[in-house]
Amino acid sequence: MDADVAVIGVGSMGSSAFWQLASLGANVLGFERYAPGHDKGAGHGETRIFRTAYGEGTEYVPFLQESKQLWRHLETETDTDIYSEIGRINIGEKEALKKDISGAKLYQLPYELLDAKEAAARFPQHRFEENDMIYVDPQAGFVRPELAIQSATQRAIELGAKLYCGVSVTAIEPDDAGVTIYCGEERFRVGHVVVSAGAWASKLLPQLSLPVWVERQILVWYRAKNPDVFSMEKFPIFGRETEGQRWYGFPSLDGHLVKVAFHHGGDEVDPDTIDRTTHKEDIEHLSKFIHKYIPDLDPNAVKAKVCMYTNTPDNHFIIGSVSGMPNVTMLGPMAGHGFKFAPIMGKLAAEVATELTPTMNIDMFRPDRLIRV
Ligand SMILES: Cc1cc2nc3c(=O)[nH]c(=O)nc-3n(C[C@H](O)[C@H](O)[C@H](O)COP(=O)(O)OP(=O)(O)OC[C@H]3O[C@@H](n4cnc5c(N)ncnc54)[C@H](O)[C@@H]3O)c2cc1C
Repeated sequence: MDADVAVIGVGSMGSSAFWQLASLGANVLGFERYAPGHDKGAGHGETRIFRTAYGEGTEYVPFLQESKQLWRHLETETDTDIYSEIGRINIGEKEALKKDISGAKLYQLPYELLDAKEAAARFPQHRFEENDMIYVDPQAGFVRPELAIQSATQRAIELGAKLYCGVSVTAIEPDDAGVTIYCGEERFRVGHVVVSAGAWASKLLPQLSLPVWVERQILVWYRAKNPDVFSMEKFPIFGRETEGQRWYGFPSLDGHLVKVAFHHGGDEVDPDTIDRTTHKEDIEHLSKFIHKYIPDLDPNAVKAKVCMYTNTPDNHFIIGSVSGMPNVTMLGPMAGHGFKFAPIMGKLAAEVATELTPTMNIDMFRPDRLIRV
C-alpha cells in the first residue's frame, strides 16, 4: 500500500480533506493536476461569500456554524487571515428573503430587516426599488479562496501528507481491499480514496453517470469612482434579486476594484474545453445593472474571470460513500455554493474515509439519493 487514503483533486474541498486527514494522523497522498490555488476550477477569484442564515435550506445552518469554527482553526494553525466577518445584505422583495428570515429565527441568529428608505440611508452606494426589503446578516463575511486552499494544503504537508502536484489521475479502480489509482503509466495502491475533483468528477467516475452539469460563470471587476465608500467597513457583501436575476458583489479588497457576478445563467460546458476567455456579451448585461443600481461604480468592466459551477439536480451537495463502490468517498460536486463549507465537509469526508462515525449527520448529502452503481 502506498497510503491509507488518497485525495483526488486538492482544490477547494480536497485541500480541506487533505488537511483533516493529515490532522487525524492518516498516511495520506494528494493528487492535483494544477498547483493549489489555481484558476482553472471553482476555487479562485479573491473572495467567496460566507453566510449564516441560509436560503438554500435551514438544515445547512449547523454546518455553517461548524465551518466558521474550522476556518478560524485553520487561520490559527497557519497564521493567516482567511475569513473576514464584515456582514452581508440581501436585497429583494419580502418573499425572496423568507428563507433567510426563517433560518435566523430557528437558530436565533441576529438580523435586521430594513425597508428601501432605511437601507438607502445606510447603504447609499445602492439604488433600491420601492418594494425592496433588505435583510442584514451581521455575522456573514467572505473567505479568501486561494489563500484558504494553499494554507490547508501546506498545513497537511507539514503534518506529513504527500502532494503530487501537476499530476492528473487518469482512472481509479476500487475493489474490496482498496483502490488502484492510475496516473498515466504510473499507478498507486491505497486503502481508500476521497474524490474531490469538482467539475471533473463525472470524468473520473464515469460508471456513476453522475446527474450533474457544469455551468460557465463569470466574475467581473469594476472600478469605484469614489473608492472610500466601497471599503469593507462601508460596503458589506450584497446579494440581490433584480429583474428576475440573482447577482452579488463584494467590497473592494485593493481599494479600487469591486467584484460583482451573476449567480447562474451561464452555459453548460465541458471542463476540458470551456472557453476561459471573457467576451463583451459575457459582461454587458451585468454592466447595465451596475449602471442602474450601483452608479458610483464605473460600468466599464476592468477585468473578468471564468469559473465553473457543478450543479446537482436538487441543488444539494454530494458527500459520502457510494453503495456498491467500496473504499470511495465522494466529496462533491458542491452545486455552486460549497466553498464556505469546505472545512466542515472536508472534515466529515475525512471521518468517513477513515471509518470514523461522522461528527454530523450527512444523510441529506448521500450520493445514493441521486446515483446507483
Ligand atoms: C464564480 C463562482 C462563485 C462562487 N461563489 C461562491 C461563494 O460566494 N460562496 C460559496 O460558498 N461558494 C461559491 N462558489 C462555489 C464554490 O466555489 C464551489 O462549490 C467549490 O469551489 C467547489 O469545490 P471543488 O473542490 O468541488 O472544486 P475545485 O475547487 O475546482 O477543485 C477540484 C480540483 O480537482 C482537481 N482535479 C480534477 N480532476 C483531477 C484529476 N483527474 N487529477 C488530479 N486533479 C484533478 C482540479 O484541478 C481542482 O483543483 C462559487 C463558484 C464559482 C464558480
